[in-house]
Amino acid sequence: MNLQTANEEWRADFPILNQKIYGQNLIYLDNAATTQKPRQVIECIEKVYSTVNSNIHRSVSKLGADCTREYENARATVGKFINAQSPREIVFTSGTTEAINLLAFAFGEKFVDEGSEIIVGESEHHSNIVPWQMLCIRKKARLRVLPFDDGGELKIEMLDQLINPRTRLLCIAQASNVLGTVNPLERIIEKAHNRGVAVLVDGAQGIQHLETDVQKMDADFYVFSGHKIYAPTGTGALYGKEKLLEQLPPWQGGGDMVQSVAFEKTVYADLPLKFEAGTSNYVGAIALGEALNYLTNKGLAKIHAYEKELTDYAMQEIAKIPDIRLYGASKNRTGIASFLIHNTHHSDIGEILDKMGVAVRTGRMCADPTVRHFGISGLVRASWTFYNTKTEIDRLCEALEKAVKMLK
Ligand code: PMP
Repeated sequence: MNLQTANEEWRADFPILNQKIYGQNLIYLDNAATTQKPRQVIECIEKVYSTVNSNIHRSVSKLGADCTREYENARATVGKFINAQSPREIVFTSGTTEAINLLAFAFGEKFVDEGSEIIVGESEHHSNIVPWQMLCIRKKARLRVLPFDDGGELKIEMLDQLINPRTRLLCIAQASNVLGTVNPLERIIEKAHNRGVAVLVDGAQGIQHLETDVQKMDADFYVFSGHKIYAPTGTGALYGKEKLLEQLPPWQGGGDMVQSVAFEKTVYADLPLKFEAGTSNYVGAIALGEALNYLTNKGLAKIHAYEKELTDYAMQEIAKIPDIRLYGASKNRTGIASFLIHNTHHSDIGEILDKMGVAVRTGRMCADPTVRHFGISGLVRASWTFYNTKTEIDRLCEALEKAVKMLK
């Protein structure tokens, strides 16, 4: 099967794509904000609620046991998908944001003191900046910033000066949600590890587009959101090396995260339940497992090859639009183009595109420092994935040219 035929087959799995917006075929190019869900994932949610729904890890019933098994199978699927050593290293969370806040609390309690330093990339999403800032305020620690150059590449050589004996953690995205840059993680992590510094990788924009092997990249922590990888909202995971997670204290107390509770002393559960207090979104987690299985069954290598072809085409076509200014020039990139055209305002472009059936994102993309770097107030961002087509990219370009003419 060639890639074009494969794309048609994949696309048919996503019911939402087959609809009209203002009388025109929907062209969904806001995949970096959230992805659409295949029928298989939607049906999985219905199936869990119709067949095995029962609270996990508690019920003695057959339903409870079946539901628990499916939840733990989903954990194993996540572990396998990112090549963790063991499912004990996978903590289910409500998404990237919760995973980073969990870590900022737990890692902060254990390893960060007054005077410690945390490094974040300048191009990080607010989720990978603000929790670290909050930790620094709490602990009187210092937040340091690894800058990027005007092409959108991190200035990795600056790590040599930034890292010092007070540095505790380096927090870097696998790929930027604004510039599309794929960060050279293996080099970054090697540099950090050579100086004894642990690394958190924010995989929110990476896991759905790039081969992700936490052991190969040697990340100490890796986080991602389910909704950006074709799974339901309110799902996601934190991966951590077992020997590190074991040293961290729990961040929320409640049911399921304990072995025994007495007023004198509470004994916490083993990994990973120590970090999963309360009734978790187990139905969502099972559907996240289904989404990852869906991708594996379709063939990750084929999906990645198609996306690369589409990205090369899209960047070439978008660059031809008169007066366009693209932000982020990295060759190694995911399917994201952020831009401004002539002197039009980003939100005006977004609204006109929407009336033409083309959904994009506009504004600051939850990455104020990145936008501020360029001295602008916001951007238009088109982001595509394996169910998008070259024809849709052509429609985007035509719509953009029309929008600019209307606004000039
Ligand atoms: N990091 C990056 C790079 C992102 O793109 C996003 C979502 N836009 C997040 C973190 C936060 O993800 P969520 O809102 O799903 O928690």
